Amino acid sequence: MQVTAPCPISRKQLVRAHLARYVDRILDYILPKVFGNRSAQMAASLPSTFSAMLNAYWAALTNRVGAVAPCSGFHHAGYGFGGGFCTFEGLMEAEQDLLTKNAARKISILDLDMHWGNSTQAIIDKLGLAKQVAH
Ligand SMILES: [Zn+2]
Repeated sequence: MQVTAPCPISRKQLVRAHLARYVDRILDYILPKVFGNRSAQMAASLPSTFSAMLNAYWAALTNRVGAVAPCSGFHHAGYGFGGGFCTFEGLMEAEQDLLTKNAARKISILDLDMHWGNSTQAIIDKLGLAKQVAH
């Protein structure tokens, strides 16, 4: 088993799955995070939190075996809003990174959380990704 430190995800990467204005307002402490604070320290931790999922996607693609991100997928954060305990949608952030870098043509998301990943589906619909797969 190999354990790696996450590399913080950039604003540019975050806006691939989220409304740019929403990303800016969260990271600039204007909007409260879904857990109700405007803490600069909490905002500064978000890029590293979401990079864990992104790093796991890339590790699995590289090692062809698999990888684990010891975090949730944050599947309740919508395109322009947070939900549940989720500020940004980590599954779709990682998915968009691979697709925009042409590292994958198709990606399946297996979400084993007890709840339906409402924001995963909403972002897929918003970005028209289901249509891309159908073609
Ligand atoms: Zn959930």
